[in-house]
Amino acid sequence: MRSWPVTVEPNYDESLSSWLLRLAMAQGCDPLILSGWLWPAKRIWTLDVDRGLTEQDIAPLCEVTGVTGSVVEQTCLRQLVSRYVEAPLRPNLSWPWVLSIGSRNRLRTGGLQYCPRCISEDRDPYYRRKWRLAWHTCCAKHGIQLVDRCTACASPLEPHRLHASDVHLGICATCRHDLRSVAGEAANRDALRFQEVTDEALDRGTTTYGGREVSVFDWLNAARFFIAILRNRERHVGEAVRSLVERMGIARHAEARCATGLALEMLPVTERTPLLSLAWTMLSVGPDEFVSQANSLGLVRSQLVDERQSLKGVIVEVLDRLPERSVKRRRSPIASSGPKSRQAVMRMFARLERKRRVQKVDVLS
Ligand SMILES: [Zn+2]
Ligand SMILES: [Zn+2]
Repeated sequence: MRSWPVTVEPNYDESLSSWLLRLAMAQGCDPLILSGWLWPAKRIWTLDVDRGLTEQDIAPLCEVTGVTGSVVEQTCLRQLVSRYVEAPLRPNLSWPWVLSIGSRNRLRTGGLQYCPRCISEDRDPYYRRKWRLAWHTCCAKHGIQLVDRCTACASPLEPHRLHASDVHLGICATCRHDLRSVAGEAANRDALRFQEVTDEALDRGTTTYGGREVSVFDWLNAARFFIAILRNRERHVGEAVRSLVERMGIARHAEARCATGLALEMLPVTERTPLLSLAWTMLSVGPDEFVSQANSLGLVRSQLVDERQSLKGVIVEVLDRLPERSVKRRRSPIASSGPKSRQAVMRMFARLERKRRVQKVDVLS
């Protein structure tokens, strides 16, 4: 295989898809042509290519670009995710804390976000690998919130649908709006703090929770536990849990905008931001104060742990300090027969909205 005429090296923290797209544009060809030529048997833009390629698929890419396999690996999400996940990464399952692209054919429902000021300062706009992580909601450099939709047409970011004639990645693939022109809203201070602490933990492998050194795996599990409490507090958990959240420094009606019930990795940045901000407040309180407040309210483990949640790490030790279970409650047989709550309707609507784009493609194809 001969080398390509124009060599483009991946930038610092550039995602694999971003680099592939810039490579295609530099050769003056559409992304589909480039991928079809490199991997004729695969439809890589229907997959989350940012996760990583197989060794077999990396080989032709190295050959035509002259870039080494280890440099290509630095662009892959699996290199980051493997630092905070204990089980082997499964290609067919979603990965924790990686934003879901929700793809069907080449159409997506989300997964990418960007800082307008970063890409407007880039000589050749590119997507950062860390923007794919769910705890990233802001740009620490510019102090603004990340953007995950085109502000002109509200479409998700789908740079893989751009053409060579678009010249660079700072363009909306649906309406051709210049994504660099967005002013950006100020970052949420607590969400940014959580992002910075978690990034540090990812680099070092550890951080501190309640004065104790914990692994990044433990830290993220604790964060997910508090996020679940925040999301559940308006649903079926009862007054004591709402009081606990309040005693941990969160106003009773603090906006969490989490009515849809989608997994954290599917939420838009505007919904993840308040959740992560409030989770930071709850983590900052520390485990001793959390246990003390929960005990004073007479809470037991089963009131705080969602049965679908498989908790691991230090948060399990913290919860072990609470009584196991009170008298088992039986769900009222008439509980499900009444009119649905506003939150239940919002959750159904969000799921339908994600399916709607996908079905539109099926009808057209
Ligand atoms: Zn920025
Ligand atoms: Zn647009």
